[in-house]
Amino acid sequence: MGCNDSRYIDLHIHSTASDGSLTPREILDLARRLDLGAVAITDHDTLAGSQEALSGGIPAGCGFLTGIEISTQPPPEYPAAGSFHVLGYGIRLDDPALNSTVSRLQQARNNRNPCIIDKLNALGLPVSLQEAAACGSDSQLGRPHIAEALVRKGLVGSIQEAFDRYLGTGKPAYVDKYRIACQQAIALIGAAGGVAVLAHPGLLQTHRGPGFETLLDALIDMGLRGIEVAYSDHSPELTAYYHELAQRRRLIKTGGTDFHGSLKPDVRLGAGRGGLRVPFDWYQELLRHI
Ligand code: AMP
Ligand code: ZN
Ligand code: FE
Ligand code: FE
Repeated sequence: MGCNDSRYIDLHIHSTASDGSLTPREILDLARRLDLGAVAITDHDTLAGSQEALSGGIPAGCGFLTGIEISTQPPPEYPAAGSFHVLGYGIRLDDPALNSTVSRLQQARNNRNPCIIDKLNALGLPVSLQEAAACGSDSQLGRPHIAEALVRKGLVGSIQEAFDRYLGTGKPAYVDKYRIACQQAIALIGAAGGVAVLAHPGLLQTHRGPGFETLLDALIDMGLRGIEVAYSDHSPELTAYYHELAQRRRLIKTGGTDFHGSLKPDVRLGAGRGGLRVPFDWYQELLRHI
């Protein structure tokens, strides 16, 4: 048991509570079939995925951490372009401040989706909010659902093409989304008893070297405690760099695939694009800090 556990883990997973295609229950069942040692459900700006997983019961033998992935604004002095996301692990799901913030974020998303649809319609793409909603479940809608609706209507060939042509940052149907400051996200996660982790640093425009490291130091001053070392889009070299950096800065190492089910069809639970392996002892180490 414990440190001899040779199983792998996945600490970055989206469910139907945000823009994943599997329910929390289906994710836990799949994790058990794949013999994963631990998982965390980290839906965008909502606690609903973790809540649903817990209330349905966690299968014996699989470690579980509550999670969230918050889209944030980088510090103003570091206008880091790219997806500036903060992961929270081991948070108390009933924390009032965190809950009131995520409801505000959900409201902002509800206001944003019709604007995206309007832009697509103005571009001559006949797609409706109802059609996008049919690509999700009961959950909050995001761009992947709109992308899937465009695919189903034959207006694009793939979700990726929908992002590349219309929905990605700076593309003609892009609408910015309201974000809280990263400092606020880090503080909220800490106050809810959790560990705040910088998600997929490799997706930031400046993602290595002195520029990145000063940004990281600023985040550590705000209370950041970990870095997502292993990630589907990190090359082996980049992973080794973050691994070494985590040791140098005494940061907790985490890793995950960013699994979205069929809404990100090339990423597999626990394995990413095939080769991702996050060791069980990273989960154990993380647990020691919660
Ligand atoms: P939203 O929360 O509506 O801003 O959508 C964010 C999600 O869209 C991310 O989690 C990704 O799954 C997906 N996404 C964002 N940018 C891209 C991109 N350029 N290509 C493919 N998927 C993307
Ligand atoms: Zn997503
Ligand atoms: Fe992300
Ligand atoms: Fe994610």
